[in-house]
Amino acid sequence: MIRFAADYFDGRTSRAHPVEAAAEAGQLRVTGEGIDFAVALDRIVVAPPAGQARSVVHLPDARELHSADRSALLELSRLIPSARPERWAHLLESRLRFALAALVVSVLIVFAGLRWGVPAVALVASHTLPAWMDTRIGEEALTLMDRTSLSPSKLPAARRQALEAELAAHCAKRACPPYQLLFRDSRLFGANAMALPGGTVVVTDGLVALAHHDDEVLAVIAHELGHVQHRHSLRLALQSVGAGVILVAVTGDIGSVTDLAAGLPSLLLQTGYSRDMEREADAYALAWLEAACIPPARFADILGRLDDDPSDTGLLDSHPGTRERIAPFLAHGGCT
Ligand SMILES: [Zn+2]
Repeated sequence: MIRFAADYFDGRTSRAHPVEAAAEAGQLRVTGEGIDFAVALDRIVVAPPAGQARSVVHLPDARELHSADRSALLELSRLIPSARPERWAHLLESRLRFALAALVVSVLIVFAGLRWGVPAVALVASHTLPAWMDTRIGEEALTLMDRTSLSPSKLPAARRQALEAELAAHCAKRACPPYQLLFRDSRLFGANAMALPGGTVVVTDGLVALAHHDDEVLAVIAHELGHVQHRHSLRLALQSVGAGVILVAVTGDIGSVTDLAAGLPSLLLQTGYSRDMEREADAYALAWLEAACIPPARFADILGRLDDDPSDTGLLDSHPGTRERIAPFLAHGGCT
């Protein structure tokens, strides 16, 4: 029987649970404090080691086991139908190339950090970090915001569903980055929308109330999808913590995820994105609206209204040059 000690991640939080895993009779049994389940071996994937100290066993539902016991995992991989030793060797070989590439990337990150400072490091790191990290940071940030600054939406369910359906219909026709649309009420955020790492787009009741047309809400969501597409919120979080933590994050330290998530809400509210990031998100929104046959002026309309509202502390007006930003949206005549 193969037995090994591991850290178990439940796929919902970034907390590590120490567990023992044992493979027998076609199953992997995982036991620990309050944890006892078994997964059929043909439903797990053992990731070959990629130069890190610990290997990862992927379980269904984004659950993972991280273990330093390589010999046990190698044996385990032999039991799995899809990962015969030949395949394992092949993967190791390709992983070696991957490890070399990762080394080069790491050196570049350090070089970029020295040469151009933290924003550049954050940019490189945001493209290097695995997607699950975005998701975890986003989930933790949302949990934190739900506890502190957001409350459940007071919009009628039918209103929310209508907006969700309109967005889904547009995204079915053209590629949108993977997203999850959520509605929340928030006095702190006012009329606002924000994109969290991992693709969660939060729209406030205030923004829906401010809109004169559903297309205006969709236009703001399109802008947020631009932030999602370019992983801006992850970059924002990374920039705030500095190069040291970024390097720790690149090596896969779970604790740093919590650090990154903790700072994000106030960053989104107070610091906001850089002008360049806003420009990128605007360009995405403009192309999106044209393809969706929504007059780009809808974005200008609601942005102008946000700008006129002196009580609003929202993201959209926290950047100077609203007039400059909306000009391209007014210049476009709509779809052909
Ligand atoms: Zn923005």
